Amino acid sequence: MRLSFRPYDLQLKHTFTVAGNSRDITPVVLTEIEHEGVVGYGEASLPPYLGESQGSAVAFLRKVDLNRFSNPLLIDEIHAYIDSIEEGNQAAKASVDIALHDLMGKINNQPLHELWKLDAEKTPITSFTIGIDNPEVVKQKIIEAKGFKVLKIKLGKGDDKKMINAVRSVTDVPLYVDVNQGWSDKYQALDMIHWLKDKRVVFVEQPLPKEQIDDMAWLTQNSPLPTIADEAFQRLPDVAVLNGVYSGINVKLMKSAGLYEARKMITEARALDMKIMIGCMTETSCGVAAAAQLSPLVDWADLDGNLLISNDVFEGLEVVNGKVTLNNLPGIGVRKISKE
Ligand code: MG
Repeated sequence: MRLSFRPYDLQLKHTFTVAGNSRDITPVVLTEIEHEGVVGYGEASLPPYLGESQGSAVAFLRKVDLNRFSNPLLIDEIHAYIDSIEEGNQAAKASVDIALHDLMGKINNQPLHELWKLDAEKTPITSFTIGIDNPEVVKQKIIEAKGFKVLKIKLGKGDDKKMINAVRSVTDVPLYVDVNQGWSDKYQALDMIHWLKDKRVVFVEQPLPKEQIDDMAWLTQNSPLPTIADEAFQRLPDVAVLNGVYSGINVKLMKSAGLYEARKMITEARALDMKIMIGCMTETSCGVAAAAQLSPLVDWADLDGNLLISNDVFEGLEVVNGKVTLNNLPGIGVRKISKE
């Protein structure tokens, strides 16, 4: 098996602002694993706030020696090896894991969801994310997002009620809310969640800073809406730790180090009766399509990362009638469209 990789910058269609930061590009590293003429594609998305960079991802990938494995289908062993090379580096690890899974599907000539015996009809609707902006820009973005049956609204920076009122002045669709740790007082957070419930909000993601565990457990217990852990949730052992602290988890391949562990997270969260959301970073269709293969298993999806960029390198992932649509291509279901 031969692993190759190269840095690439994703251009965002709109400046993206959430509580904490604002940006126009997202750096990624694109990977390929070749085995006997078959090529699997992978990707590491590296938004700066997560702590990885193109430099750290490339340095990690240089340490990966896939020559020690003759069979790419030995995914348990390869996963254990990749994870043991160095701590952290989840996105870099995900870029190897995604390419391996794509390769595995292609070798079997089956889409991953089919290999995993998932029903392609059961993909959830996906939200489209609206970043924080002034009311006029927010309204314009929502008009552009009219094909989506649910919107994800970023709050936690500035006047949240003004933001929601601007949204509600132009659309009736259900809303997911993501605070990105932007609130700090649990009592104010609870008042706000009651207000949001009356505005047809479905759940609230990461309302408090991830360190405020006791406050968060209290808030979840009293909240009229489900609460979802995103920044607080990274790897598989976190599922058990966060059970009772949040109503559910937001699984993202760039946090879980890829599909291998994401599947285990979903199984464990289900067993604990936790809600499950699948999300993504700003990514090409490669990373998002990989996550989409798991989407028949989840309650909610926020898989719009490829729609936020203007220089995608892959095609194959479509949103039809607001739903993530899985095609019959083998592996993660994408084709390369650009040699950039
Ligand atoms: Mg989030």
